[in-house]
Amino acid sequence: MAKKSFGQHFLLDLNITRKIARLAQVGEGDHVIEVGPGPGGLTRALLETGARVTAIEKDPRFLPLLEELALAADGALTIRVEDALGADEAALAGGAPAHVVSNLPYNVGTALLIKWLTGTFTPASMTLMFQKEVAERIIARPGDDAYGRLAVLAQTTANAALVMDVGPRAFTPPPKVSSAVVHLTPRADRPAPERLAALQTVTAAAFGQRRKMLRSSLKVLGGEALCAKVGIAPEARAETISVEGFLALADAWRA
Ligand code: SAM
Repeated sequence: MAKKSFGQHFLLDLNITRKIARLAQVGEGDHVIEVGPGPGGLTRALLETGARVTAIEKDPRFLPLLEELALAADGALTIRVEDALGADEAALAGGAPAHVVSNLPYNVGTALLIKWLTGTFTPASMTLMFQKEVAERIIARPGDDAYGRLAVLAQTTANAALVMDVGPRAFTPPPKVSSAVVHLTPRADRPAPERLAALQTVTAAAFGQRRKMLRSSLKVLGGEALCAKVGIAPEARAETISVEGFLALADAWRA
């Protein structure tokens, strides 16, 4: 029985799970960390590619099924029963690169993405199923309704693309909303943690009052003077400022 509080919507169609594994571009020699394997549909498809998989599942009810799968996988599958929010992925990866692939539990999807974008463990790539509305917030561009803090954070740290739309009926039980897979690879020029912290402060203020002009929404951070330093019009609104513009504002505020 699927538990709603654990965001349990399962992918049982091998055509879909295989397609996600293909989109993840993983294979022989790769290490994949999968969050929430549940009954193991996507896990199976990932193992088929020849990748080694470490699966983190919070719900112990899946353990017997997953242990069976691990036995058949002959050492290629390791199972951890724990909450992925507290997991130490760097330790699980053992200092080597690891890819993250997951049909994410929607209630913790954004929190996990932020952890992987800003934390000490940077995945080699991420191939993640989100509810469509969250996927759109990740890839949104200035001027889009969905453009906000998440887009700026995701796009300063990673290259992100929506690679697959998935309708509710692909899942058992079907969720109320549509879903989409986003593929992210870390940017080589990913800002250092102090820059990211400043960026978070600036975007929180700017998008906290997204309809206001920056002169007023950024008032406590320097307002008009801060905008002038980086050549951004103080009359502009947060939703029109590029990712690079926000980084410039964050750097100027920090300086
Ligand atoms: N991968 C499976 C599939 O595609 O059929 C299941 C995906 S289901 C959307 C999300 C899974 O994540 C569930 O198995 C759920 O128990 C698990 N889960 C929920 N919260 C979790 C957490 N905080 N840490 C680890 N797993 C979690």
